[in-house]
Amino acid sequence: MIAQEALPRPRRITILGSTGSVGRSTVDLLLRNRERFEVEALTGNRNLDLLVDQAKRLRPRLAAIADPALGRALKGALSGTGIEAAAGPDALAEAAARPADWVMGAIVGAAGLAPTLAAIRRGAIVALANKECLVCAGELVMAEARAAGARLLPVDSEHNAIFQVLEGDHLNRVERIILTASGGPFRTVGLEEMRAAKPAAALAHPNWAMGSKISIDSATMMNKGLELIEAHHLFGLPSEKIDIVVHPQSVVHSLVAYVDGSVLAQLGNPDMRTPIAYALAWPDRMECPAPRLDLARIGALTFEAPDPARFPALRIAREVLAAGGAAPTILNAANEVAVAAFLGSRIGFLDIARVASATLERLPGRGIASLAEVAEVDAQARRTAEAAIAAL
Ligand code: NAD
Ligand code: MG
Repeated sequence: MIAQEALPRPRRITILGSTGSVGRSTVDLLLRNRERFEVEALTGNRNLDLLVDQAKRLRPRLAAIADPALGRALKGALSGTGIEAAAGPDALAEAAARPADWVMGAIVGAAGLAPTLAAIRRGAIVALANKECLVCAGELVMAEARAAGARLLPVDSEHNAIFQVLEGDHLNRVERIILTASGGPFRTVGLEEMRAAKPAAALAHPNWAMGSKISIDSATMMNKGLELIEAHHLFGLPSEKIDIVVHPQSVVHSLVAYVDGSVLAQLGNPDMRTPIAYALAWPDRMECPAPRLDLARIGALTFEAPDPARFPALRIAREVLAAGGAAPTILNAANEVAVAAFLGSRIGFLDIARVASATLERLPGRGIASLAEVAEVDAQARRTAEAAIAAL
Protein backbone atom coordinates (compact mmCIF):
# COMPACT_ATOMS: atom_id res chain seq x y z
CA MET A 1 0.00 0.00 0.00
CA ILE A 2 1.29 3.43 -0.90
CA ALA A 3 1.64 5.68 2.12
CA GLN A 4 -0.64 8.65 1.77
CA GLU A 5 1.25 11.93 1.90
CA ALA A 6 -0.58 14.39 4.10
CA LEU A 7 -1.64 17.28 1.90
CA PRO A 8 -0.38 20.62 3.22
CA ARG A 9 -3.12 22.22 5.28
CA PRO A 10 -4.60 25.27 3.53
CA ARG A 11 -3.33 28.54 4.99
CA ARG A 12 -6.05 30.20 7.06
CA ILE A 13 -6.38 33.88 6.14
CA THR A 14 -7.87 37.00 7.70
CA ILE A 15 -8.03 40.28 5.79
CA LEU A 16 -8.30 43.46 7.82
CA GLY A 17 -9.61 46.03 5.33
CA SER A 18 -10.78 43.57 2.66
CA THR A 19 -12.93 46.21 0.94
CA GLY A 20 -10.02 48.57 0.16
CA SER A 21 -7.62 48.58 -2.74
CA VAL A 22 -5.05 46.21 -1.19
CA GLY A 23 -7.87 44.18 0.36
CA ARG A 24 -9.60 43.70 -3.00
CA SER A 25 -6.34 42.62 -4.63
CA THR A 26 -5.87 40.07 -1.83
CA VAL A 27 -9.42 38.77 -2.31
CA ASP A 28 -8.75 38.46 -6.05
CA LEU A 29 -5.73 36.20 -5.38
CA LEU A 30 -7.68 34.09 -2.86
CA LEU A 31 -10.54 33.58 -5.32
CA ARG A 32 -8.05 32.29 -7.90
CA ASN A 33 -6.46 29.87 -5.41
CA ARG A 34 -9.36 28.44 -3.44
CA GLU A 35 -7.61 25.14 -2.66
CA ARG A 36 -4.59 26.79 -1.03
CA PHE A 37 -6.46 29.04 1.37
CA GLU A 38 -9.33 29.12 3.85
CA VAL A 39 -10.72 32.37 5.16
CA GLU A 40 -11.23 33.08 8.83
CA ALA A 41 -12.41 36.72 8.78
CA LEU A 42 -12.97 39.70 6.51
CA THR A 43 -13.40 43.26 7.74
CA GLY A 44 -14.54 46.54 6.23
CA ASN A 45 -15.37 50.02 7.43
CA ARG A 46 -18.60 51.14 5.69
CA ASN A 47 -18.79 49.39 2.33
CA LEU A 48 -21.48 46.91 3.38
CA ASP A 49 -22.38 45.68 -0.10
CA LEU A 50 -18.83 44.82 -1.05
CA LEU A 51 -18.13 43.13 2.29
CA VAL A 52 -21.26 40.98 1.89
CA ASP A 53 -20.32 40.11 -1.68
CA GLN A 54 -16.78 39.13 -0.65
CA ALA A 55 -18.11 37.07 2.26
CA LYS A 56 -20.54 35.17 0.04
CA ARG A 57 -17.75 34.30 -2.38
CA LEU A 58 -14.98 33.49 0.11
CA ARG A 59 -17.13 31.97 2.89
CA PRO A 60 -15.17 33.26 5.91
CA ARG A 61 -16.24 32.25 9.40
CA LEU A 62 -16.71 35.92 10.34
CA ALA A 63 -17.41 39.19 8.56
CA ALA A 64 -16.96 42.32 10.67
CA ILE A 65 -17.83 45.92 9.86
CA ALA A 66 -16.32 48.85 11.77
CA ASP A 67 -19.39 51.09 11.55
CA PRO A 68 -21.70 49.90 14.36
CA ALA A 69 -24.73 51.37 12.58
CA LEU A 70 -24.29 48.77 9.82
CA GLY A 71 -24.19 45.74 12.13
CA ARG A 72 -27.86 44.86 11.79
CA ALA A 73 -27.78 45.15 8.00
CA LEU A 74 -24.68 42.93 7.82
CA LYS A 75 -26.35 40.30 9.99
CA GLY A 76 -29.46 40.40 7.81
CA ALA A 77 -27.51 40.13 4.57
CA LEU A 78 -25.56 37.10 5.84
CA SER A 79 -28.41 35.31 7.57
CA GLY A 80 -28.73 31.71 6.47
CA THR A 81 -25.15 31.61 5.15
CA GLY A 82 -23.58 30.32 8.37
CA ILE A 83 -21.18 33.29 8.33
CA GLU A 84 -21.05 35.17 11.62
CA ALA A 85 -21.51 38.93 11.52
CA ALA A 86 -20.09 41.48 13.97
CA ALA A 87 -19.87 45.26 14.09
CA GLY A 88 -17.99 48.08 15.80
CA PRO A 89 -14.29 48.78 16.39
CA ASP A 90 -14.01 45.97 18.96
CA ALA A 91 -15.30 43.51 16.39
CA LEU A 92 -12.31 44.32 14.20
CA ALA A 93 -9.86 43.54 16.99
CA GLU A 94 -11.82 40.36 17.67
CA ALA A 95 -11.61 39.39 14.00
CA ALA A 96 -7.83 39.91 14.13
CA ALA A 97 -7.53 37.84 17.31
CA ARG A 98 -9.19 34.82 15.72
CA PRO A 99 -6.92 31.90 14.86
CA ALA A 100 -5.85 32.71 11.31
CA ASP A 101 -2.30 31.68 10.34
CA TRP A 102 -1.87 34.75 8.17
CA VAL A 103 -3.39 38.21 8.53
CA MET A 104 -3.36 40.97 5.94
CA GLY A 105 -3.20 44.40 7.61
CA ALA A 106 -4.76 46.56 4.89
CA ILE A 107 -6.72 49.12 6.91
CA VAL A 108 -5.68 52.67 6.08
CA GLY A 109 -4.33 55.00 8.76
CA ALA A 110 -3.80 54.79 12.51
CA ALA A 111 -7.25 53.14 12.71
CA GLY A 112 -5.45 49.94 11.71
CA LEU A 113 -3.14 49.92 14.71
CA ALA A 114 -5.35 48.15 17.29
CA PRO A 115 -6.57 45.33 15.02
CA THR A 116 -3.12 44.79 13.50
CA LEU A 117 -1.62 44.55 16.97
CA ALA A 118 -4.25 42.02 17.97
CA ALA A 119 -2.94 39.78 15.18
CA ILE A 120 0.69 40.47 16.05
CA ARG A 121 0.15 39.66 19.72
CA ARG A 122 -0.94 36.13 18.99
CA GLY A 123 2.16 35.51 16.93
CA ALA A 124 0.49 35.36 13.51
CA ILE A 125 2.20 35.91 10.18
CA VAL A 126 1.17 39.50 9.50
CA ALA A 127 1.37 40.84 5.96
CA LEU A 128 1.63 44.55 6.57
CA ALA A 129 0.31 47.05 4.04
CA ASN A 130 -0.82 49.55 6.69
CA LYS A 131 2.35 51.67 6.93
CA GLU A 132 0.74 54.24 9.22
CA CYS A 133 0.79 51.81 12.15
CA LEU A 134 4.59 51.57 11.82
CA VAL A 135 4.88 55.34 11.51
CA CYS A 136 2.74 56.13 14.55
CA ALA A 137 3.95 53.30 16.80
CA GLY A 138 6.94 51.68 15.07
CA GLU A 139 9.05 50.82 18.13
CA LEU A 140 6.09 49.40 20.02
CA VAL A 141 4.81 47.37 17.07
CA MET A 142 8.26 45.88 16.40
CA ALA A 143 8.74 45.09 20.11
CA GLU A 144 5.32 43.38 20.28
CA ALA A 145 6.17 41.37 17.15
CA ARG A 146 9.48 40.22 18.66
CA ALA A 147 7.86 39.34 21.99
CA ALA A 148 5.06 37.31 20.38
CA GLY A 149 7.21 35.74 17.66
CA ALA A 150 4.99 37.29 14.99
CA ARG A 151 6.45 37.41 11.50
CA LEU A 152 5.95 40.72 9.67
CA LEU A 153 5.92 40.47 5.88
CA PRO A 154 6.17 43.86 4.19
CA VAL A 155 3.51 44.35 1.49
CA ASP A 156 4.27 47.94 0.53
CA SER A 157 5.89 47.36 -2.88
CA GLU A 158 9.21 49.05 -1.97
CA HIS A 159 9.58 47.21 1.31
CA ASN A 160 8.46 43.96 -0.24
CA ALA A 161 11.18 44.42 -2.88
CA ILE A 162 13.84 44.97 -0.21
CA PHE A 163 12.49 42.03 1.80
CA GLN A 164 12.73 39.79 -1.27
CA VAL A 165 16.33 40.84 -1.90
CA LEU A 166 17.39 40.52 1.74
CA GLU A 167 15.87 37.05 2.16
CA GLY A 168 18.60 35.66 -0.02
CA ASP A 169 21.45 37.77 1.27
CA HIS A 170 23.43 39.15 4.14
CA LEU A 171 21.71 41.83 6.20
CA ASN A 172 25.00 42.58 7.96
CA ARG A 173 26.66 43.43 4.63
CA VAL A 174 24.10 46.01 3.54
CA GLU A 175 25.52 49.47 2.95
CA ARG A 176 22.25 51.23 2.19
CA ILE A 177 18.81 50.67 0.77
CA ILE A 178 17.29 52.74 -1.99
CA LEU A 179 13.55 53.35 -2.02
CA THR A 180 12.14 54.26 -5.41
CA ALA A 181 9.32 56.79 -5.73
CA SER A 182 7.15 57.36 -8.78
CA GLY A 183 7.11 61.10 -8.09
CA GLY A 184 3.30 61.03 -8.28
CA PRO A 185 1.05 63.11 -10.55
CA PHE A 186 2.90 66.39 -9.82
CA ARG A 187 6.45 65.20 -10.48
CA THR A 188 6.99 67.72 -13.29
CA VAL A 189 4.37 70.30 -12.30
CA GLY A 190 5.29 73.85 -11.16
CA LEU A 191 4.54 75.19 -7.68
CA GLU A 192 1.71 77.49 -8.84
CA GLU A 193 -0.11 74.60 -10.47
CA MET A 194 0.41 72.50 -7.35
CA ARG A 195 -1.00 75.29 -5.18
CA ALA A 196 -4.19 75.36 -7.27
CA ALA A 197 -4.48 71.56 -7.66
CA LYS A 198 -7.92 70.06 -7.01
CA PRO A 199 -8.41 66.64 -5.37
CA ALA A 200 -9.24 64.96 -8.70
CA ALA A 201 -5.85 65.95 -10.16
CA ALA A 202 -3.97 64.87 -7.03
CA LEU A 203 -5.83 61.52 -6.98
CA ALA A 204 -4.85 60.70 -10.56
CA HIS A 205 -1.73 58.63 -9.91
CA PRO A 206 0.19 57.89 -13.11
CA ASN A 207 1.10 54.24 -12.31
CA TRP A 208 -0.87 52.81 -9.40
CA ALA A 209 -4.63 52.55 -8.67
CA MET A 210 -4.84 52.95 -4.88
CA GLY A 211 -7.07 54.23 -2.08
CA SER A 212 -7.55 57.99 -1.82
CA LYS A 213 -5.35 58.61 1.24
CA ILE A 214 -2.23 56.95 -0.16
CA SER A 215 -2.88 58.55 -3.55
CA ILE A 216 -2.75 62.04 -1.99
CA ASP A 217 0.30 60.98 0.03
CA SER A 218 1.95 59.98 -3.25
CA ALA A 219 1.17 63.38 -4.77
CA THR A 220 2.78 65.23 -1.83
CA MET A 221 5.47 62.53 -1.59
CA MET A 222 4.56 62.21 2.09
CA ASN A 223 4.03 58.58 1.12
CA LYS A 224 7.78 58.24 0.56
CA GLY A 225 8.41 60.04 3.85
CA LEU A 226 6.14 57.56 5.66
CA GLU A 227 7.90 54.73 3.80
CA LEU A 228 11.28 56.01 5.01
CA ILE A 229 10.05 55.62 8.59
CA GLU A 230 8.44 52.28 7.73
CA ALA A 231 11.75 51.03 6.25
CA HIS A 232 13.67 52.20 9.31
CA HIS A 233 11.50 50.01 11.55
CA LEU A 234 11.23 47.00 9.25
CA PHE A 235 14.91 46.76 8.37
CA GLY A 236 16.55 48.38 11.40
CA LEU A 237 18.50 50.93 9.34
CA PRO A 238 19.14 54.58 10.27
CA SER A 239 17.79 57.41 8.11
CA GLU A 240 21.28 58.07 6.58
CA LYS A 241 21.32 54.57 5.10
CA ILE A 242 17.94 54.92 3.38
CA ASP A 243 18.06 56.82 0.07
CA ILE A 244 15.08 57.97 -1.96
CA VAL A 245 15.24 58.21 -5.73
CA VAL A 246 12.47 59.16 -8.13
CA HIS A 247 11.81 56.51 -10.77
CA PRO A 248 8.77 57.52 -12.83
CA GLN A 249 8.17 54.11 -14.46
CA SER A 250 7.60 52.31 -11.09
CA VAL A 251 9.27 49.16 -12.43
CA VAL A 252 12.28 48.93 -10.11
CA HIS A 253 10.44 48.62 -6.82
CA SER A 254 13.49 49.26 -4.62
CA LEU A 255 17.14 48.30 -4.27
CA VAL A 256 19.71 47.09 -1.76
CA ALA A 257 23.35 48.25 -2.00
CA TYR A 258 25.98 45.96 -0.45
CA VAL A 259 29.45 46.70 0.91
CA ASP A 260 31.10 45.23 -2.20
CA GLY A 261 29.40 47.74 -4.51
CA SER A 262 26.71 45.32 -5.76
CA VAL A 263 23.19 46.69 -6.00
CA LEU A 264 20.30 44.19 -6.12
CA ALA A 265 16.75 45.11 -7.05
CA GLN A 266 13.31 43.57 -7.47
CA LEU A 267 11.43 44.54 -10.64
CA GLY A 268 7.91 44.04 -11.89
CA ASN A 269 4.95 45.86 -13.35
CA PRO A 270 3.22 48.14 -10.86
CA ASP A 271 0.53 45.70 -9.69
CA MET A 272 0.08 45.18 -5.95
CA ARG A 273 -0.95 41.58 -6.53
CA THR A 274 2.73 40.68 -6.98
CA PRO A 275 3.92 41.76 -3.50
CA ILE A 276 0.65 40.46 -2.01
CA ALA A 277 1.19 37.08 -3.71
CA TYR A 278 4.73 36.98 -2.36
CA ALA A 279 3.41 37.49 1.16
CA LEU A 280 0.47 35.08 0.70
CA ALA A 281 2.69 32.22 -0.44
CA TRP A 282 5.73 33.08 1.72
CA PRO A 283 8.13 31.31 2.15
CA ASP A 284 7.05 29.73 -1.16
CA ARG A 285 5.96 31.61 -4.29
CA MET A 286 2.66 31.35 -6.15
CA GLU A 287 1.18 32.16 -9.56
CA CYS A 288 -0.05 35.71 -9.95
CA PRO A 289 -1.97 37.17 -12.90
CA ALA A 290 -0.12 40.52 -12.84
CA PRO A 291 0.91 41.59 -16.37
CA ARG A 292 4.44 40.41 -17.15
CA LEU A 293 7.29 42.85 -17.48
CA ASP A 294 8.25 43.58 -21.09
CA LEU A 295 11.52 45.49 -20.78
CA ALA A 296 11.98 45.98 -24.52
CA ARG A 297 8.56 47.61 -24.72
CA ILE A 298 9.28 49.84 -21.72
CA GLY A 299 12.59 50.81 -23.32
CA ALA A 300 14.01 53.20 -20.74
CA LEU A 301 14.08 53.18 -16.98
CA THR A 302 14.95 56.62 -15.61
CA PHE A 303 15.95 57.96 -12.22
CA GLU A 304 16.20 61.46 -10.75
CA ALA A 305 16.66 63.15 -7.38
CA PRO A 306 13.46 64.33 -5.66
CA ASP A 307 12.90 68.10 -5.60
CA PRO A 308 13.02 69.22 -1.95
CA ALA A 309 11.41 72.59 -2.71
CA ARG A 310 8.21 71.20 -4.22
CA PHE A 311 8.09 68.13 -1.97
CA PRO A 312 8.93 69.34 1.58
CA ALA A 313 7.29 66.20 3.03
CA LEU A 314 10.52 64.27 2.49
CA ARG A 315 12.53 66.68 4.66
CA ILE A 316 9.79 66.74 7.30
CA ALA A 317 9.79 62.94 7.50
CA ARG A 318 13.59 62.80 7.86
CA GLU A 319 13.48 65.39 10.64
CA VAL A 320 10.71 63.51 12.39
CA LEU A 321 12.61 60.22 12.19
CA ALA A 322 15.71 61.91 13.62
CA ALA A 323 13.67 63.46 16.45
CA GLY A 324 11.99 60.14 17.32
CA GLY A 325 9.66 59.84 20.32
CA ALA A 326 6.25 61.34 19.63
CA ALA A 327 7.28 63.18 16.45
CA PRO A 328 6.37 60.41 13.96
CA THR A 329 3.03 59.86 15.74
CA ILE A 330 2.30 63.59 15.47
CA LEU A 331 3.29 63.70 11.80
CA ASN A 332 1.11 60.73 10.93
CA ALA A 333 -1.97 62.12 12.70
CA ALA A 334 -1.51 65.65 11.31
CA ASN A 335 -1.05 64.26 7.81
CA GLU A 336 -4.22 62.15 8.08
CA VAL A 337 -6.19 65.23 9.15
CA ALA A 338 -4.64 67.41 6.43
CA VAL A 339 -5.25 64.85 3.67
CA ALA A 340 -8.91 64.53 4.72
CA ALA A 341 -9.21 68.34 4.74
CA PHE A 342 -7.69 68.55 1.25
CA LEU A 343 -10.01 65.81 -0.04
CA GLY A 344 -12.92 67.77 1.43
CA SER A 345 -11.67 70.91 -0.39
CA ARG A 346 -11.12 72.69 2.94
CA ILE A 347 -7.42 73.38 2.31
CA GLY A 348 -5.14 73.67 -0.71
CA PHE A 349 -2.69 71.03 -1.87
CA LEU A 350 0.44 72.80 -0.57
CA ASP A 351 -1.27 73.34 2.79
CA ILE A 352 -1.01 69.62 3.55
CA ALA A 353 2.71 69.84 4.35
CA ARG A 354 2.18 73.23 6.03
CA VAL A 355 -0.38 71.73 8.41
CA ALA A 356 1.99 68.87 9.22
CA SER A 357 4.86 71.29 9.95
CA ALA A 358 2.67 73.63 11.99
CA THR A 359 1.35 70.73 14.09
CA LEU A 360 4.88 69.48 14.76
CA GLU A 361 6.01 72.99 15.74
CA ARG A 362 3.10 73.50 18.12
CA LEU A 363 3.46 70.26 20.03
CA PRO A 364 6.37 69.61 22.37
CA GLY A 365 8.70 66.66 21.82
CA ARG A 366 8.18 63.77 24.23
CA GLY A 367 8.87 60.10 24.54
CA ILE A 368 6.30 57.40 23.89
CA ALA A 369 6.34 54.37 26.14
CA SER A 370 2.95 52.74 25.64
CA LEU A 371 0.06 52.37 23.26
CA ALA A 372 -2.04 54.53 25.54
CA GLU A 373 0.52 57.30 24.99
CA VAL A 374 0.36 56.75 21.22
CA ALA A 375 -3.43 57.22 21.37
CA GLU A 376 -3.05 60.32 23.54
CA VAL A 377 -0.49 61.95 21.22
CA ASP A 378 -2.49 60.95 18.14
CA ALA A 379 -5.66 62.59 19.50
CA GLN A 380 -3.81 65.73 20.59
CA ALA A 381 -2.10 66.01 17.19
CA ARG A 382 -5.46 65.67 15.40
CA ARG A 383 -6.91 68.54 17.47
CA THR A 384 -3.80 70.66 16.87
CA ALA A 385 -3.88 69.98 13.14
CA GLU A 386 -7.54 71.05 13.00
CA ALA A 387 -6.58 74.27 14.82
CA ALA A 388 -3.72 74.81 12.35
CA ILE A 389 -6.20 74.37 9.49
CA ALA A 390 -8.59 76.88 11.05
CA ALA A 391 -5.68 79.36 11.37
CA LEU A 392 -4.57 79.06 7.70
P1 NAD B 1 -8.31 51.97 0.89
O1 NAD B 1 -8.78 53.30 1.33
O2 NAD B 1 -8.58 51.53 -0.50
O3 NAD B 1 -8.85 50.84 1.87
C1 NAD B 1 -8.78 50.98 3.25
C2 NAD B 1 -9.46 49.82 3.95
O4 NAD B 1 -9.48 50.14 5.36
C3 NAD B 1 -10.91 49.59 3.53
O5 NAD B 1 -11.21 48.22 3.63
C4 NAD B 1 -11.71 50.35 4.60
O6 NAD B 1 -12.98 49.81 4.77
C5 NAD B 1 -10.84 50.14 5.81
N1 NAD B 1 -10.95 51.24 6.79
C6 NAD B 1 -10.82 52.55 6.55
N2 NAD B 1 -11.00 53.26 7.69
C7 NAD B 1 -11.25 52.36 8.67
C8 NAD B 1 -11.54 52.46 10.05
N3 NAD B 1 -11.60 53.64 10.66
N4 NAD B 1 -11.73 51.33 10.74
C9 NAD B 1 -11.67 50.13 10.13
N5 NAD B 1 -11.43 49.96 8.82
C10 NAD B 1 -11.21 51.07 8.09
O7 NAD B 1 -6.72 51.95 1.17
P2 NAD B 1 -5.60 51.12 0.41
O8 NAD B 1 -5.12 51.89 -0.74
O9 NAD B 1 -6.03 49.71 0.22
O10 NAD B 1 -4.44 51.18 1.49
C11 NAD B 1 -4.47 50.41 2.68
C12 NAD B 1 -3.12 50.52 3.36
O11 NAD B 1 -2.13 49.93 2.52
C13 NAD B 1 -2.65 51.96 3.58
O12 NAD B 1 -1.97 52.05 4.79
C14 NAD B 1 -1.72 52.22 2.42
O13 NAD B 1 -0.73 53.17 2.73
C15 NAD B 1 -1.12 50.85 2.22
N6 NAD B 1 -0.66 50.60 0.86
C16 NAD B 1 -1.53 50.62 -0.17
C17 NAD B 1 -1.10 50.39 -1.48
C18 NAD B 1 -2.07 50.37 -2.63
O14 NAD B 1 -1.66 50.08 -3.75
N7 NAD B 1 -3.33 50.68 -2.46
C19 NAD B 1 0.26 50.16 -1.72
C20 NAD B 1 1.13 50.14 -0.63
C21 NAD B 1 0.67 50.37 0.65
MG1 MG C 1 4.85 52.01 -1.50
